[in-house]
Amino acid sequence: MRAPAAAGRSHRRLGRAVLGALALPGTVLCLQGCARPERAEPPSAASGSAPAAVTASAAGTSIAAAGPRGGPTAGTGEPALPVPVPEPGPDAPVPVVDLHVDTAWQVHSKGRLPSLPEGHITAEALRAGHYAAVLFAIYVPDDARGGKPRPADTEAVLGTIEKILAANPSLRLASQGPAPPGAVAVYLGIEGARAFASDPAKIDGFIARGVRLVGPVHAHDNAFSSSATGSARHGLTAAGKALCRRIYEQGALVDASHMSDAAFADLVPIAEAAGAPIVASHSNARAKCRNKRNLTDDQLRAIARTGGIAGLNFHGKFIASRRATIDDLVRHALHMVGVAGIDHLAIGSDFDGATPARGLEDASRLPDLARALGAAGLSQADVRKIFSDNALRVLGWKGRGGTGR
Ligand SMILES: [Zn+2]
Repeated sequence: MRAPAAAGRSHRRLGRAVLGALALPGTVLCLQGCARPERAEPPSAASGSAPAAVTASAAGTSIAAAGPRGGPTAGTGEPALPVPVPEPGPDAPVPVVDLHVDTAWQVHSKGRLPSLPEGHITAEALRAGHYAAVLFAIYVPDDARGGKPRPADTEAVLGTIEKILAANPSLRLASQGPAPPGAVAVYLGIEGARAFASDPAKIDGFIARGVRLVGPVHAHDNAFSSSATGSARHGLTAAGKALCRRIYEQGALVDASHMSDAAFADLVPIAEAAGAPIVASHSNARAKCRNKRNLTDDQLRAIARTGGIAGLNFHGKFIASRRATIDDLVRHALHMVGVAGIDHLAIGSDFDGATPARGLEDASRLPDLARALGAAGLSQADVRKIFSDNALRVLGWKGRGGTGR
């Protein structure tokens, strides 16, 4: 157990990490599809009818680029948190920063109401789970527009996220600065960059508006990369390597989840050259569940070497071949901590895109996972690292240019 003084220092470090995240220009969204390779395609896409991402207005959203880099609290001394995070303590709730949920896609294409009255992520479940922050994935299907999705489709999903934010006063873009008690900070990420294949520079505008994580590939190979569930015949293409460098140069992060092993290997030197932490936002340990979407021990070590993180995925098929339980996920966590270290594990639930393991049915169940990890021998301080500190440290990465992202 951490001594109180050390815990206080940890909290201040957390604050600085969040300040870095706050300095993002805009918001960040990451969405969807984690478990998608294991499931049928969304009916709208599979049937040939146009997915909502294609038909929605491309007029643009009001999520705008922030002002001067450095963020709303820059230069004010003690950083302000985007949401009040409880001080560590024996009875304090463990705040959650979830690096990947597919809620936006559920609203965008599956008819769920923006007020989020159902599903894995509801206002009530977020409150019960002690969520401090969640990263909404912006997902556009690989087969949108006959396999040629455009940035306008990404924009359309961003518009859906705006509707979600408008309908849920407790959700607040992390980039907008300190929020009132009870608020949940929302980060943004792009899952699969096929929409940017013909014009990678278009990604810049989304990063400028706060997109924090960009996954070059999703369930199928594309112009940038082969997929973990694709051919695996090559790694990052020349365009993919250039895209990753471009993302890092702007202070955003590349998401390695869904990459093939060859693509992951190609990413490592690019991340090292940029001084960037490698993030696999929603991937478990392949040593505990043999699935290509999970990470090898060598990949976990590479993540640790760069100061990065892997987010525990709650999707049952990524946890165990039989019906997975919360204890099975704890076994992944202990293995990943053993291989990569306690500073390199996080949470990436895949909620609203996954069929969760028994005991992890929705966001309200995170305290149960915290208790299970404690029962397995982790200290409260270690659980807190996994649940929020590590993610906030990495989300606060600023890049070599010190541009304030
Ligand atoms: Zn995914």
